[in-house]
Amino acid sequence: MSLAKLNGQIAGCVKCSRLVKHISSLQPRKGLMLRDYWNRPVGGFGDPQSRFALVGLAPGAHGANRTGRPFTGDGAGDFMYPLLYQAGFTNQPEAYAMGDGLQLYDLYITNAVKCLPPQNCPSSDEFTQCRDYLAAEFSLLDNLQIIIALGRGAFMSTLHLYKVQGAIQRLADYPFSHGGEYRLPDGRVLLGCYHTSRYNLQTGRMTKQMFIDLLEKAKALLAE
Ligand code: SF4
Repeated sequence: MSLAKLNGQIAGCVKCSRLVKHISSLQPRKGLMLRDYWNRPVGGFGDPQSRFALVGLAPGAHGANRTGRPFTGDGAGDFMYPLLYQAGFTNQPEAYAMGDGLQLYDLYITNAVKCLPPQNCPSSDEFTQCRDYLAAEFSLLDNLQIIIALGRGAFMSTLHLYKVQGAIQRLADYPFSHGGEYRLPDGRVLLGCYHTSRYNLQTGRMTKQMFIDLLEKAKALLAE
């Protein structure tokens, strides 16, 4: 199994009926047509040899759910990609559509849940259903060492994965915080990061400097 083949499987997945229904009822943004939307599960992308993975919650309605690529085409991506470029993780600061020439260096980007959920809030069943795909992505990233979880949802879903696999016992031993780091039993490091959502950016809970500092911390952890 390769990441490309896995993404093919993910794109055809219809396991979560609530999410399938929600995506099919989504109204396009003003000036766009339904045919402009991906409107399917969105798999991850990036360098299969990556040592870093960045895990978000789920596709944005008019971002990844429209373009078919995580964090592409909405405010969260507009915030994040220039900073990833600044930190040396991409070849360009722009990310607006598949085919825009974006390449990731030493980084794989994905979401804990691959389908757009209502109110950006997957149910626990939907997290569970989609966790097999996250586990498959992690297992195919042979060199993965640092997992940056954007937001509590992605952070907890990653921890649940390790718990289900019997690698950790108590989730309470791993409280989420921005910059909080945990070495997992397989040697990988899980690093918490506030999500780059519009709400967090508008309220100042997440800033450019905080995100850059987090990326630098991730690189320093690798050096350790
Ligand atoms: S959220 Fe995941 S498991 Fe559920 S339908 Fe989408 S791809 Fe399949």
